[in-house]
Amino acid sequence: MHECREAIDADPLRRFVAEYSDERFSAYRRDRGPELRDATQHAEDLAAEHGIAELWSQHSDRLARGDGRNARHTVEIALWALKHDVRVRTLQDPETFRDLLYTVVTGQRNNEDSKRKAISSQAGRKRAIARGEFVAHLPDGYKLHREIDQSGQLRRRMVLDPDRQELIELLFRLALRGRTCGRIARTLNDKGWLVKPVRRIDRARPFDVGKVYELLRNPRYAALSVYHGEILARGHWPAYVSERQYERLCRQLANPREGFSKGPLDTYLLTRLGRCGRCGYPLRIATGRARLDGTRPRGYVCASLRSYRGKAQCQSSPFDAHIAEAMVIASLPALLGEESCDSVASSPDTGGPAAEQGSDADTHPYKTLALHTAHSQRRARELADVRRMGCWIDRESDGRTEATRSEASELNRLLRSWFATLAIDVCEATVEITATRLHASQPPSTAVTIDRAAWSRFAPPGHRQLAPANAWSAAEMIGALKAWADQHACSPRRIQWKAASPAHPSSLTVCSHFGDWNRALRKAGLPPVARSPRQPWSDKEIIGALRAWAKQHGRVPAYLDWARGAREHACAQTVWLRFGSWTAALRAAELTPPPRLKCTARRWTHAEVIAALHQWAAEHGRPPKRLDWIRSAPEHPTAQSVRNYFGSWGAALEAAGLEA
Ligand SMILES: [Zn+2]
Repeated sequence: MHECREAIDADPLRRFVAEYSDERFSAYRRDRGPELRDATQHAEDLAAEHGIAELWSQHSDRLARGDGRNARHTVEIALWALKHDVRVRTLQDPETFRDLLYTVVTGQRNNEDSKRKAISSQAGRKRAIARGEFVAHLPDGYKLHREIDQSGQLRRRMVLDPDRQELIELLFRLALRGRTCGRIARTLNDKGWLVKPVRRIDRARPFDVGKVYELLRNPRYAALSVYHGEILARGHWPAYVSERQYERLCRQLANPREGFSKGPLDTYLLTRLGRCGRCGYPLRIATGRARLDGTRPRGYVCASLRSYRGKAQCQSSPFDAHIAEAMVIASLPALLGEESCDSVASSPDTGGPAAEQGSDADTHPYKTLALHTAHSQRRARELADVRRMGCWIDRESDGRTEATRSEASELNRLLRSWFATLAIDVCEATVEITATRLHASQPPSTAVTIDRAAWSRFAPPGHRQLAPANAWSAAEMIGALKAWADQHACSPRRIQWKAASPAHPSSLTVCSHFGDWNRALRKAGLPPVARSPRQPWSDKEIIGALRAWAKQHGRVPAYLDWARGAREHACAQTVWLRFGSWTAALRAAELTPPPRLKCTARRWTHAEVIAALHQWAAEHGRPPKRLDWIRSAPEHPTAQSVRNYFGSWGAALEAAGLEA
């Protein structure tokens, strides 16, 4: 490179333009790398612009050393240069590109040289491996120790890397205890270890199942020297596990876990397209175990949840595939962008192109017209395809068939021709879909936000909840409540939702989430319903009733005020049982219990009680019931006092000669 620059700068007639270099890309096994491609392209452009351009290189074998079949032959460079008026200059063999015949000969020799070198270096590698020396890349947990031996040659030796030793020892210790690769990956990630990057520029990633498997299967950790999978010798480096332990691990890893099987291969609409909106990892498909009717639950799950374990996993949760696909299809017109809509709208008669024509004199009117027609045709094709997807998802909602399954892969290809990625982020109340277009001419990305409550309201029953398990989100429950109200023109009653159905969750689910039924209705913007008298009072309802009573009466209710239950409040006994005591219930409702009154009770004798009973019976025309005397009055004691004197209410009436 340096020599080329000097040679060019020495000549006043030449001007240096740009410099390209490919590292790590073979000219023998393949056609070098992207830099050579860029360099040839640049040279072509320069030749087209200035009539002549030169491509300089140190030696012809820098450009190509292939045999013409697997990799580029030198003569191909010469022919390319001839076609595009580019001159190729090589410093060390300047004759090569002067004559085409000469190029063929040199190219052949370059290829032969490389082939011979490759064969001899391979044989050398094999011999070194058989001697148990370090060859090829360094496994994680080791580092290289360089030293000069007696004969003055540089020797490289693998020694334990103190920084990574703890990690590799932990890995093998867990594996020898019979832990699965997933469990090991979780432990390593939780302890904060990362995979050692292969190249320095790579980002350090967390451990996944595959990486743990790869490390455990590497025989070099047992100090075995391997050539193309074949163990040739014992290596001269310290081992992490013994050979017997290594063999045991291999046997262990070869046996798959009991009952573990991958589901059948199935086509999903967002395969190779879906991304997790939270972390950007690809979405993996998840086909669950077959249900009794033979169908399988289908879902999407973030790849980080599948591959990684422990803290490295992202916080998103799996979601139902059918609903996610329906959401994507519903938002396709918006995701495809308004740009093509505009071009249809500004058709020639609206004056859109005429204005453009004025500003841009180069544009021929017919050219603009053709462009617009092309745009609108493309838009029409896209819209037709979107309609087709709508029909497909409709048929899918009745269950998958062979026909819809095969169409899914076709539609997947279609989507992948429009978008590079489709990121889906499932939030508490919304679902955000962000699409990245494939072609640079289109707007780079568009996003659509779907309200989960609205989706749940208008989606058909059975397709309302995004979580694959029977877990309704608050937004979806509100949507289901609204959907019921739309259909029946009234708020649902609790009893009507006693059992869950595909259209709605059970009333218990709603109440446990919102606290009480009417609160859920209020959140959904629906009028509350009267509670049925047979329905048990929830703690929140009791507290609400206590507060309402206190507000209405201007004082805190006493136990005896609530002795009988009413429509507005539970009976005191229920409150007492639920909260442990009346005072505790008042405190839970943030009301101040009234101060205890000084005891002013009078003592009644048996005869006085009997007389009071007779008098009450004479006044009311019937003997008193226990609840009639629940509070004391000047003319009679409380029912509890009567029970204390006579043992029971019935015994008191009997003593008074009255009928119960
Ligand atoms: Zn994620």
